[in-house]
Amino acid sequence: MSQTVKDGELNEGLEVDVLEVPAEGTLVRYSDAKLEMFKEIILGKIDQAKKTLEINKKESNDTADTSPTFKVLEEGQETLSKEEQGKLMQRQKDFIKVLEFALIRIGNKTFGQCHCPKCNGKLISEARLKCTPGATKCVETKNHN
Ligand SMILES: [Zn+2]
Repeated sequence: MSQTVKDGELNEGLEVDVLEVPAEGTLVRYSDAKLEMFKEIILGKIDQAKKTLEINKKESNDTADTSPTFKVLEEGQETLSKEEQGKLMQRQKDFIKVLEFALIRIGNKTFGQCHCPKCNGKLISEARLKCTPGATKCVETKNHN
């Protein structure tokens, strides 16, 4: 009696039969056309936020040159205090940062994926992303935080 089957050949055959199944959810993403649409929305929002920032920067410079505490209120128009203005500007800066991160995610095509345990990479709804394109979590996860 002699062994004719070589171990090496047997193993090779088995390896070929192993199917490569991609992990569930890994291939989910928005189409290039959709990503382009979101990009336009984000760029528009960044532009808007930067304008708001510019306007407020100018105003705060003006008041700094004169006397900020005695700024005249015209026709009931309210003037933001320096503190309020600072908060507003910080909010705009944070907003721009969040949107810039969203642009990066569009670039690597992971934009819109929610990584909470429940979604596991599934897409956040288009309607939500249109309102808040900087979102990285689904509504349920956000509300639980
Ligand atoms: Zn989620």
